Amino acid sequence: MDLKAKIPVGVLGATGSVGQRFVSLLAAHPWFEIAVLTASERSAGKRYADAVSWGLDQPLDSRLGALTIEPTRPGLPCQLLFSALDAEVAGLLETELARAGHVVVSNARNHRMDNDVPLIVPEVNPDHLALAARQTHGGGVILTNPNCSTIGLVLALAPLHRSFGLTAVQVVTLQALSGAGLPGVPSVAIHDNVIPFISGEEEKMESETLKVLGRLTPDGVEPAPIAVSAQCNRVAVLDGHTECVSVKLARPAGEMEVRAALAGFSAEPQRLGLPSAPHPPVALVDERDRPQARLDRGRSGGMAATVGRVRPCPVLDYRFVVLSHNTIRGAAGGSILIAELALAKGLIPAEKLPLATTARR
Ligand code: NAP
Repeated sequence: MDLKAKIPVGVLGATGSVGQRFVSLLAAHPWFEIAVLTASERSAGKRYADAVSWGLDQPLDSRLGALTIEPTRPGLPCQLLFSALDAEVAGLLETELARAGHVVVSNARNHRMDNDVPLIVPEVNPDHLALAARQTHGGGVILTNPNCSTIGLVLALAPLHRSFGLTAVQVVTLQALSGAGLPGVPSVAIHDNVIPFISGEEEKMESETLKVLGRLTPDGVEPAPIAVSAQCNRVAVLDGHTECVSVKLARPAGEMEVRAALAGFSAEPQRLGLPSAPHPPVALVDERDRPQARLDRGRSGGMAATVGRVRPCPVLDYRFVVLSHNTIRGAAGGSILIAELALAKGLIPAEKLPLATTARR
């Protein structure tokens, strides 16, 4: 896209685990420039560098560290807002911000299943963005990201569903600590342990997967007719969700066909050359002991899903392991890719977004 200047954006909930990822990914983004950072009243008024407990291994950008944190409320000085708000407060605040004319791209669960809210994985269901036109907030809209474990799963399922159809999916997750937000799981609870429960996660994986893989109709999204069973576990990994998946196909396919469908997957973000699009979106690996969180979560800047151990399943048809970075592809990076897609498709008109005066392309 040929922009005259970068587009000013805001990050809501900028001090949290996902908020920090937004700050890090947007610091050098070619289209967007952070103009405002918000958090709770506890942090508002402080310098970002003083309020945040910076936990990423990239240094905090000095310009962004010097910004004063604003309270999260309508009237922020940019139209496009990325939300990493705590779900306890995100529902109401995001609605108020959309009513005030903001375009909110959200990571929170609150609006994901609303009938008129697109739940988008850009490679999988870019057509669902059209749902946003049915929203009646006034000038603004809410666009959403699925939850972090759903995003990795559907990136691997989409090429199989497209090529052969899916009728059943079983998934067991091994989810990273950063998925629990800050300050996170107490060390005494997770050290030497696996916790076989993440509140609400299994339900989200089962419902969101069907919406993302569903069909856009005049009445909303018709969920995909697939039986999905999810079991979610928290493990002592910092970043990167690993998922062991078994699938039943609607029509028979050989293992080579299954591998070819995964390896050959490419979609609209890749065709449009969006800045955050991974090439390829699904990396198929052959080593018998991959993917591994530490070795594979950074693939394509953390935006690609890595699939390995593809083999026949004696219960369903095929099984494999998929790994994706939960705070990059599964949260901040995924939202940024949604905004890039919406801009490139003209669904967020760039000319109506106020342009930053300081930024250069
Ligand atoms: P987090 O670390 O707990 O951060 C929450 C953020 O919300 C903080 O910036 C916090 O600001 C802010 N906040 C809390 N109460 C607020 C209020 N009353 N008004 C305004 N801001 C408020 O959570 P997270 O892990 O980053 O997750 C953020 C959202 O993304 C959640 O909805 C989560 O479910 C979702 N998500 C997370 C992941 C992941 O991997 N972590 C993946 C996908 C989606 P203060 O610092 O001032 O309290």
